[in-house]
Amino acid sequence: MNGGADGIRLRGLQKRYGATVALAGLDLDIRPAEVLGIAGPNGAGKSTLVRIIAGEERPDSGELVFNGRPWTPILDWRRVAVVHQEPQLFPNLTVAENVLAGREGPSSGWPKLGAADAKVMKAFGIDRFAATPLADCTLATQQRAEIARAVARDAQVFLFDEPNSALTDEESDELFREMHKLAAEGRVVLLVTHRLGDLFEHASRVAVIRDGRVRAILEGEALTEDGIAQQLVVSRGAEASAKAGAAIDHAGRSLAAVHGWSHSAAFHNITLDAKPGEIVALVGVEGSGARELLRSFAGLESCSGEINIAGEIGSGARRLSAYVPATRMLSLYSNFSVGENLLVRLGSPDIAGLGMALRKKRMRQLANEAVRRFSIRAHSVAQGIRSLSGGNQQKVAIAQALNCAPRLLLLEEPTRGVDIHSKREIYRLLRDYVGAGNAVIMFCTEVLEVYEAADRAHVVVDGGLSRAIVVGDYPHVEALATDIARMERHARNDGAEAKR
Ligand code: ADP
Ligand code: MG
Repeated sequence: MNGGADGIRLRGLQKRYGATVALAGLDLDIRPAEVLGIAGPNGAGKSTLVRIIAGEERPDSGELVFNGRPWTPILDWRRVAVVHQEPQLFPNLTVAENVLAGREGPSSGWPKLGAADAKVMKAFGIDRFAATPLADCTLATQQRAEIARAVARDAQVFLFDEPNSALTDEESDELFREMHKLAAEGRVVLLVTHRLGDLFEHASRVAVIRDGRVRAILEGEALTEDGIAQQLVVSRGAEASAKAGAAIDHAGRSLAAVHGWSHSAAFHNITLDAKPGEIVALVGVEGSGARELLRSFAGLESCSGEINIAGEIGSGARRLSAYVPATRMLSLYSNFSVGENLLVRLGSPDIAGLGMALRKKRMRQLANEAVRRFSIRAHSVAQGIRSLSGGNQQKVAIAQALNCAPRLLLLEEPTRGVDIHSKREIYRLLRDYVGAGNAVIMFCTEVLEVYEAADRAHVVVDGGLSRAIVVGDYPHVEALATDIARMERHARNDGAEAKR
């Protein structure tokens, strides 16, 4: 089919970042008129693949062919529309201007919103923010703007990298309707997601990427949630995690607990606790209530019921917890140095009250201590935070939270976009922290993270909590993945039954 509409052909793509191999000889065919799903654990190379197809980055070697011709993204970038995992928009432009960005034609002046643009913006609920500067919008609105910008474009290739992580169910449905429409029009559609249910329901084939290569392609009868879950974790089970779970007294006193804990919308009548020394994972998709439940321990969601953290109840409890959001740049100050970021949450008793010169010296000392303790790779504490790798930025975000000496650390997807080496260090850091009699509750979207880092897990579906899963009971991660997928599915089905 030379020269025909046979889609994108990728052969032997390689990409390194310093010592990190992001793509290690990746082969893949993406056909027009299908939604091709991409699954893979964190750090597998999915976003790198997306950026290379989009022409935002060059591979070190390998071949890209589009409809029989070499793909030269520099010439062809207008043919590609991308929804990035982290929205890449212009904060100083309005939402409407962002939707139109990239479409500036040869004629002077900014293009105008057409009827089709308005319709897409309405479908994603951002029409009322059209004139609002993006910088004033929530992350969810920004993600919707990024999606609207992509689907409103007349491109031939559409790349969606974790596009619905902040969407409601209805908006996700709308997004999938758009994807199917684009595919039906003969366009190339790629969907990267952690949500196995979405892959099962909407992809015609699913390529599983691990360590920079396509390891399996599932289609037809082989394409099931269990099948994907197992492929995601194959051969990783041997990497035993450095767990200290045996030291936890499961019958002992809780360090943090909620009873009859309810939220106006996200969850209802939850009982959950964490013991000293324990890392508890909440597994769920966006909209499941898991994220809100996590945030509620930090007092960031208003809830009714009982809360107790290290003996403090009610609002006193929240002072003993610290929360690190998934979007690192929400807790880091991008124009501050590493040192300033490490100390920014410190209360006045630690540094105020000293003379100016002493204060500077003390701050430098504290920052240097933190850099050592958390193995943060930076040339100096004066270095800008933005020049650090994602993994090291995350260590700074966690170190910043731990500097307030909380008893309970609350983390959202602690290793999202983090390389394997930093991931191990972050897990070790968490283990040290709970080893001192503290506890961690984290929101996870990945089974591998649960397996490697947590002692206990609960699946959250529709605001309800599953029974406890004791991670140490699983001989390998595949078994854990299968159980978690099964519990999510059953809870969903039960919910659907109940609604009937
Ligand atoms: P995924 O999207 O599957 O989670 P990525 O493509 O983001 O994975 O990353 C693959 C690997 O490449 C990771 O180890 C990541 O840390 C590294 N990496 C990605 N982008 C960069 C970058 N710009 N600089 C340095 N390392 C990077
Ligand atoms: Mg990614």
